[in-house]
Amino acid sequence: APSAFDAVVIGAGAAGLYCAAVAGQLGVKVLLVDHADKLAEKIRISGGGRCNFTNRDLDPRAPHKHFLGDNPNFCRSALARFTPADFIALVQKHGIPFHEKHKGQLFGDRASEDFIRMLQDECGAGDVAHWQPCSVRELAADGAGYVLQTSRGTVRARRVVIATGGLSIPKIGASDFGYRIAQQFGLRVVPPRPALVPLTFDGEAWAPFAQLAGLSLPVRIETGEKKDRMAFDEDLLFTHRGLSGPAVLQISSYWREGQPLRIDLAPGVDVAGELARAKTRSRKLLANELAQWVPARLAEAWVQQDPAWQRPVNEAGDKALQQLAQRLSRWELVPTGTEGYRKAEVTAGGVDTRELSSQTLESRQAGLYFIGEVVDVTGWLGGYNFQWAWASARACAQALAAT
Ligand code: FAD
Repeated sequence: APSAFDAVVIGAGAAGLYCAAVAGQLGVKVLLVDHADKLAEKIRISGGGRCNFTNRDLDPRAPHKHFLGDNPNFCRSALARFTPADFIALVQKHGIPFHEKHKGQLFGDRASEDFIRMLQDECGAGDVAHWQPCSVRELAADGAGYVLQTSRGTVRARRVVIATGGLSIPKIGASDFGYRIAQQFGLRVVPPRPALVPLTFDGEAWAPFAQLAGLSLPVRIETGEKKDRMAFDEDLLFTHRGLSGPAVLQISSYWREGQPLRIDLAPGVDVAGELARAKTRSRKLLANELAQWVPARLAEAWVQQDPAWQRPVNEAGDKALQQLAQRLSRWELVPTGTEGYRKAEVTAGGVDTRELSSQTLESRQAGLYFIGEVVDVTGWLGGYNFQWAWASARACAQALAAT
């Protein structure tokens, strides 16, 4: 006879583990399955191995500030009912030490392992059955619920929760399973794309900057026009193939192919005014003047772009100085692409929120739920994606227990 459960959660990552644990503790008979050999690898590698598990600056009344998607307000309900403070309380209950790093970002003091163990303990407290590795070959609906054909046999359940995440980092188990299930039941999917991802540039055009690989500096970066305009004040990192660092990861989620980025390499500095003043009293090379506001290596590479910039400031023409200032404060460049899912921290797009209840995460297909990254809700860098995983998991778990 097939094994029978109230609910099967597919995907034992951040969202799946937490959903299974909460539902189990509320009395739901839960089976959690995952096809990967190792448990929760993405949590393990998150936050540079320390897991940036939430963000204190998250404003549940204005979630669109830190999340994107076709309907940025969709996440409001779940995030308002399960806040960063609620997750912090759980972390404290387990005695896990943590600290705040930058802009509200909370990290574990030790290793991400702490959080994986915490979630496993919570699953234990909920008597969750956990089959891993176990793959799901087929999911079918019948009158009474769902029948799953798995590598460990046939399973029946009244409800199924899809928590299989996005496409990022295929080598640790990411798959398009969630999108395929959505399609199988006629649910729309917003085309997935890599987000929080380094951007790349055309080889030849990039050659002058490739030598700067490894260099990092604070910038203001923006993309989009008018009401779609988005800007971040963060660090920029030059790489061999393009740009990375928090500034670029953040803006990459908003960047669309063919659009330019605008980067102010000396934010807060009136470069045009400073150069005009320097011209009246300095004989230093322009590169040396620039080095007051940007790293010397960048200043050096920067002036290579125009022979008119490779001279002492007092000998430079007014127009050349203006152009130099303009280029440094508003460097406009069009990325050729992204580093793709291999390097993307998250996947933007996903199951269309118009197919889901924002209260319960149940889809139009009765008894089928989607939580975490597989949904078209994408957070900023800095712990927001985990907070969405926890909050959507909890909203779903409560719904599983209520019906
Ligand atoms: P996941 O955690 O990806 O879990 C999905 C699970 O489903 C996996 O265990 C996978 O094996 C399983 N699965 C997939 N397909 C199938 C299938 N067909 N059958 C069975 N199981 C399947 N976010 C933050 O907020 N803070 C951070 O510090 C942070 N750091 C990150 C660092 C890196 C390098 C990366 C890649 C991401 C980081 N993120 C971070 C993003 C965050 O990890 C994800 O948004 C979050 O894990 C999503 O949770 P999830 O449960 O929806 O998906």
